[in-house]
Amino acid sequence: MLSFFNTLTRRVEEFSPLDPEGQTVLLYTCGPTVYSLAHIGNFRAYIFEDLLQRHLEFRGFNVRRVMNLTDVEDKTIRGCCEAGIPLADFTRPFKEAFFQDLSTLRIKKAESYPEASAPVHIGRMIEMIATLISKGHAYQARDSSVYFRLSTFPAYGQLAHFHLNELRPSGRIKSDEYGKESVGDFALWKAWDEKDKAVGWESPWGKGRPGWHIECSAMATGTLGPSIDIHCGGEDNIFPHHEAEIAQSECATGRPFVRLWMHCRHLLVNGQKMSKSKGNFLTLRDLLHQGWTGREVRYVLASTRYREPLNFTFESLLGARSALQRLDEWTKRLHSRTSRVSLQPIAPPQLDTAAFGRALDNDLNTSAALGNVFEIVRDSNRLLDQEKLSPSNITFLNSWIRQVHSVFHLELNYRRPDLPRKVSSLLFQREQARAKKQWGTSDSLREEILALGWKIKDTRGGQEVSGNSLN
Ligand code: AMP
Ligand code: ZN
Repeated sequence: MLSFFNTLTRRVEEFSPLDPEGQTVLLYTCGPTVYSLAHIGNFRAYIFEDLLQRHLEFRGFNVRRVMNLTDVEDKTIRGCCEAGIPLADFTRPFKEAFFQDLSTLRIKKAESYPEASAPVHIGRMIEMIATLISKGHAYQARDSSVYFRLSTFPAYGQLAHFHLNELRPSGRIKSDEYGKESVGDFALWKAWDEKDKAVGWESPWGKGRPGWHIECSAMATGTLGPSIDIHCGGEDNIFPHHEAEIAQSECATGRPFVRLWMHCRHLLVNGQKMSKSKGNFLTLRDLLHQGWTGREVRYVLASTRYREPLNFTFESLLGARSALQRLDEWTKRLHSRTSRVSLQPIAPPQLDTAAFGRALDNDLNTSAALGNVFEIVRDSNRLLDQEKLSPSNITFLNSWIRQVHSVFHLELNYRRPDLPRKVSSLLFQREQARAKKQWGTSDSLREEILALGWKIKDTRGGQEVSGNSLN
């Protein structure tokens, strides 16, 4: 039985999609704010969502995943104003870097990446705000901004599990938000002010820009429809962001917004959330520079279940390195024993190979699933030593590990889907040159690849490439 923990009900629930055919799963995931490079804490969230998507696909669902890019927000606006360049020019390199990092971490591409600044989405945000005003759920205040009228949505607080009366003024309420009817009312449309310089869009309420929450409501319902199956993010998104998304979306569309809310716990450093503001963050590029590979980082972030806190340490990267080596050696050993004729795969009765899928069915228990993988590696190595595995058993194990990789993607010879053809052909030539110990050719091919913007790291398992713009 496939089941997941729902933040809304605080229970583990059996999963079934809204699709009457039981086939398609609609998945919306909050993406990065593109004002700087994403840090590996952000990537914990994206890897969790990747594993979720891939496991659903492994179980036969067709997953339509959408991830937004937050490019209109206080930090992106401040960034472009300080740099004195248009918003799009400021965010572009961070978007590009983000896609490269996704690829280095082997994260599957979403169906689409709507950007808040796209005219179609701005249009939809304005439309949604107008609907909310016409239904009495929103109002324009004296400061010209438009706010959501929280008193019209008594269910507010359902996700974060508090009651509306518990909302009190806090130091975070901005002094420029004057004229709000009630302290918890949040901005849907922020009136332009001179700090915003060239950033702003015309609307029925004057020039301004959307609030972060309405951006996600509009992009989620605009791309996937009013009701979606699963909405994910990191735990810091629960309140106020996702709470606000529910209020806006349900009041605007009149339909239930999301059936299953899933949130990953934070990646910590010395017990504290890894974050830009604390300055305790590492980017993927920092780690690549230190000689770690995308595969090793992926392993660390994937090997703790999403609902457990994960403390980042370099020991965990070393652990990943040695675990992956064990897996690679086992894979090579298996290949060397693989029969050339095709055989009927037969599961070795001594090994519980189904435990892997069962663990993932149980609220995406990735640590138990990988535990099972390494148990199989250990036990089948012993059976191989004792000559107790038949060629059909080996055929089975080969296809079993392919299934494991269809979810975890920890295989050695992974071809990045975004590699330009030219780069992959040079890599291939270099692989051949190295096999023939032609080191001079290998070095000049490395230079050629570097000139195209890709760096190579030679690992025991082979070449690993990473994009090198924005280092
Ligand atoms: P942001 O760019 O801050 O909007 O964050 C993008 C995504 O990363 C959101 O889903 C956040 O909840 C998530 N996130 C941010 N910091 C961490 C962290 N330290 N651990 C896990 N997820 C995080
Ligand atoms: Zn969001």
